[in-house]
Amino acid sequence: PRIYSLANSQFSTAAEPSWRHGNSLRVPNLIGGSFVDSQSSESIDVLNPATQEIVSQVPLTTKEEFKSAVSAAKQAFPSWRNTPITARQRIMFKLQDLIRKNMDKLALNITTEQGKTLKDAQGDVFRGLEVVEHACGMATLQMGEYVSNVSSGIDTYSIREPLGVCAGICPFNFPAMIPLWMFPVAVTCGNTFVLKPSEKDPGASMILAELAMEAGLPNGVLNIVHGTNDVVNAICDDDDIRAVSFVGSNTAGMHIYGRASASGKRVQSNMGAKNHGIILPDANVDATLNALVAAGFGAAGQRCMALSTVVFVGDSKSWEEKLVERAKALKVNIGTDPDTDLGPVISKQAKERVCRLVQSGVDSGAKLLLDGRAIKVPGYEQGNFIGPTILADVIADMECYKEEIFGPVLICMKADSLEEAINIVNKNKYGNGAALFTTSGVAARKFQTEIEAGQVGINVPIPVPLPFFSFTGSKASFAGDLNFYGKAGVQFFTQIKTVTQQWKDLPSGAGVSLAMPTSQ
Ligand code: NAD
Repeated sequence: PRIYSLANSQFSTAAEPSWRHGNSLRVPNLIGGSFVDSQSSESIDVLNPATQEIVSQVPLTTKEEFKSAVSAAKQAFPSWRNTPITARQRIMFKLQDLIRKNMDKLALNITTEQGKTLKDAQGDVFRGLEVVEHACGMATLQMGEYVSNVSSGIDTYSIREPLGVCAGICPFNFPAMIPLWMFPVAVTCGNTFVLKPSEKDPGASMILAELAMEAGLPNGVLNIVHGTNDVVNAICDDDDIRAVSFVGSNTAGMHIYGRASASGKRVQSNMGAKNHGIILPDANVDATLNALVAAGFGAAGQRCMALSTVVFVGDSKSWEEKLVERAKALKVNIGTDPDTDLGPVISKQAKERVCRLVQSGVDSGAKLLLDGRAIKVPGYEQGNFIGPTILADVIADMECYKEEIFGPVLICMKADSLEEAINIVNKNKYGNGAALFTTSGVAARKFQTEIEAGQVGINVPIPVPLPFFSFTGSKASFAGDLNFYGKAGVQFFTQIKTVTQQWKDLPSGAGVSLAMPTSQ
């Protein structure tokens, strides 16, 4: 493949990170506080999905380099866990400030490597920033519990202690938000961390790590290793790693869940989705159609909480025509153009897969109301663009319904009643998110009670909770039992210890009792 020099690149000057050594496109690892080039001769090109320009190259980190990242994290742990929690919080205060100041740089890097629009890229950073803000209150979040006098002169208290070295494995679709779901909570709890960014867009993780160090994170507390399956397997197998946080597809997520838990680690694994929006005929037409278009096509449908399936109940099916009109009006272009609504999908392979799934829908009898597959974007003919696409009359046994499409494709189904619509959603294997659009409180309450999904929206299309709650995907969308961020996130990254202490003047000559102690 052609390699463009940074000077020739339209975007890289402003996005150029300071860790870049000279003119090298290779992204370094971060080990023990230093950005070091991998010795590996193999690397993967990171391509701008709108232009196919090579933005950078990701090394396939060697076993030895991986091991030295884990050793650096292990070495940093004893003094980091003993650093006062207020000092750890203060680093997060500083980090949130630095992220705000570097918002444009981060967003431009995300748009260049991932393709989403600049405004959407800022949202990606902002939703991660909120987790950093949340971690600023860790002293309160990590508080234990105390019961005095559980028996005469005896008190019991619990403390939440860090685990040690933890690791995070990230997907391509939120290059800033997802690393920020992971390491700020982990390190503020007192753990040290090894992060494996997506090999498709590692730049935002690198900028964030640099900012974290500038904020005062000591050497070795956050390390970064690049690569794909081999380095992920090394994380799963490593005896010094105590917990693994994963976000990505089901294939990788179930493999990692099985392999890492088989070697004794705790694992939280957020995976794929098929999020449904149920539309009742009493919903506000305008607001609902806007929500469907935004949540179906935003980020070119590459969000795990994208609303990819619409279930029209009764007469609301007649809104399909208006939905098509609104979707047609969206502008597809490179993400750096301020008027763009949706940018390209991540890769040529992703585009081919999306187009194949759309065709499989057509072949099995779905009606193609809007076809964006042949779109051409002037000036960016090489880009992986797909225009908004709408398939109607889809039924549950079609492949386009069973598979997560992960592209700008809305699938429309129909139901005669709310009951029937809820049944459709509940039969789907995924359980990430579901939304209902209605003006009926009774319907909303029934939906909230009966729907089997982790994140429920009522007139809210993408109900991703803020970090004081947890991200609570369920069924095939999640494996593990402690979710990301919120209270569960703190529990995931800490081990509870329960102390029972006795302080009283002990009577002499009381004798020995071998019966189980009770406090009657
Ligand atoms: P992916 O599974 O292909 O990659 C995720 C990570 O796993 C990458 O770092 C990759 O290197 C690694 N990986 C991939 N295959 C592997 C294998 N066989 N063995 C070991 N490691 C492997 O996912 P992606 O395409 O980057 O991301 C899109 C997916 O992520 C979608 O399914 C989306 O729904 C999901 N996602 C879920 C959430 C959520 O919170 N539920 C959030 C974002 C994305």
